[in-house]
Amino acid sequence: MQNTTSRLIKVIDHTRQIRIYLADSRAVVQEAATRHGCSATAAAALGRTLTAACMMGAELKAADDLVTIRIRGNGPGGEIVVTATAQGTVRGYILNPEADLPSLRPGKLAVGGLVGHEGTLEVIRDMGLEQPFIGRVELVSGEIAEDIAQYFYQSEQVPSLVSLGVLVNPDLSINSAGGLFVQALPDADDALLQQIEEQVQAMGPISSWPRKYGTLEEQLARMMGNIPYDTIGEVPLAFRCNCSRERLGNILAGLDPKEIQALAEEGRDIEVVCHFCGEKYHFSPEEIV
Ligand code: ZN
Repeated sequence: MQNTTSRLIKVIDHTRQIRIYLADSRAVVQEAATRHGCSATAAAALGRTLTAACMMGAELKAADDLVTIRIRGNGPGGEIVVTATAQGTVRGYILNPEADLPSLRPGKLAVGGLVGHEGTLEVIRDMGLEQPFIGRVELVSGEIAEDIAQYFYQSEQVPSLVSLGVLVNPDLSINSAGGLFVQALPDADDALLQQIEEQVQAMGPISSWPRKYGTLEEQLARMMGNIPYDTIGEVPLAFRCNCSRERLGNILAGLDPKEIQALAEEGRDIEVVCHFCGEKYHFSPEEIV
């Protein structure tokens, strides 16, 4: 059975040493993959990034704070850009959504190859201050989870276990998508983090968890075993873009008047496509002049 709504839960262990974010992002990834016409591998690459951004968004404090993940790898998929809010809305794109590579083995999409093994991952936190906070790391593998873990460790000095998974059906529908951050808070006992890590490893790939273990709450109970914890938040997740006709029309206002004149003479409409969500807007030349 597939969940039609995406959500994440935040928990903390009773000793306040470990914070955990666990997300079911299937519906969000499905919408992104459909909107952009993603290949299986591109859906997995974009879906993993969207899922990570949702969980990073959940760390933001104020309602209009934004987090952006920008991955620039040397693979055929091209740049991935994803933006999320504290309310659980997320949007994003992969530059070449049709790009694809043969799977490494059945069920193992070549995400690292599509993204590229070399390049950078940037996280931009815009918290309404004069300058956004920008952290940048070199890609570890392009598999995204490892790259995000590296970012947390290097840029924020937070040892983290990061797991991201998207399972794509042969008809390109999204079977499951999920993500997990396990983060050690300051002065956390390494042994506790290690215990959780071992339990996570034993559960297999995260994309198999909904089928094997059920709801997020059931997955978490399995993962934590005998470690007591409290749920400290729940956020519904949705793919949502803030583009509008007006906003994209403003971009056109910056076009060369001669170009607009030429289009007007040909009597042609101008189509503008929002990168983030694939929405198409049509403008007649008269509307722009
Ligand atoms: Zn849009």
